[in-house]
Amino acid sequence: MTSDATGAGCSYFGVRIPRHVQRDMADLAARGYTGVLHTFSENDLAYYRDTMAEIVAVSHAEGLSVQASPWGLGRTFGGEAESRWVAFHPEECQVLDDGRRVAAACLNSGAYRDFCRQWADWVLECGVDSVFWDEPAWVVPGHVGVDDAARWTCRCDSCADRFGRPVPADLTAEVKRFREESVVDFLREIVAHVAARGGANTVCLLPALEGTQGLADWDNVATLPGVATLATDPYWKHWEEAAAPFVRRFARLLRETADRHDVGAQLWVPSFGLDRGDIPDLEAAVAAAREEGIDDLWTWGYEGCRHMTHLATPDSALVWEAVSSALTGCGVPV
Ligand SMILES: [Zn+2]
Repeated sequence: MTSDATGAGCSYFGVRIPRHVQRDMADLAARGYTGVLHTFSENDLAYYRDTMAEIVAVSHAEGLSVQASPWGLGRTFGGEAESRWVAFHPEECQVLDDGRRVAAACLNSGAYRDFCRQWADWVLECGVDSVFWDEPAWVVPGHVGVDDAARWTCRCDSCADRFGRPVPADLTAEVKRFREESVVDFLREIVAHVAARGGANTVCLLPALEGTQGLADWDNVATLPGVATLATDPYWKHWEEAAAPFVRRFARLLRETADRHDVGAQLWVPSFGLDRGDIPDLEAAVAAAREEGIDDLWTWGYEGCRHMTHLATPDSALVWEAVSSALTGCGVPV
């Protein structure tokens, strides 16, 4: 696998009528994009199995490479999609430090790992070029209705089995290490599964080295057998950071880590949730990533996500033109 991929990509979601998708894929290609990420949610798995293969095919026909993300799968990855797996398997869900069970699958659940393998088999059958494991992490309490950011998971029976005894209710150094090792072990299994079937893996890590969702040591992921590309998504507004320094910091960490392990390096910038006043930050972020040697740049998502209430702003159209210009260097198609 190359460590010097160049290109510009964009995520795409919310449309399941292939002829409409085809038109948008042609638009992406005309704008100079070379790749697209399609979201493959649990809803898609249940109801759009073959449709998603058609969507991959129309994307390839426009010359785009295709990544697949496990959108909201089990609530253990990024994405604005709900999980029905957790509704069907409450006993496999994460348990908070205070003993409450929440609606997110446990990364140490064997049944959930099996489900992730089934999901991966499906996206590979759909013909995608890479599986994009997006923001694998223990659940964010606020995402499952727990209004207390200090709570953390997981103290379930599957975790106790792997820990060797019940997981303590205190976030000790040993527990912190166990939580991080569990994320890495989960990734090891699913990445190997994809690689064994001839698929490529990208793992996209949150831009955090600490806290209850961060991973302190990215080497542990980059070195996993079957990882082709390491990615990160330093969305500065979400993390309440200054754009260029934050992106530069994580671009540099990404570049250095990827180089150490001879894997590709891919960085994502946001085009959702931005208004016209954010465009200079967006341009500075792209420039900082390039200066740090990252040439495989993607954005979330198509048209600045103006079709999704939760992510749109009144300036989404302007932001989309700006990010497309910054990523592809192409002007607006006629
Ligand atoms: Zn657990």
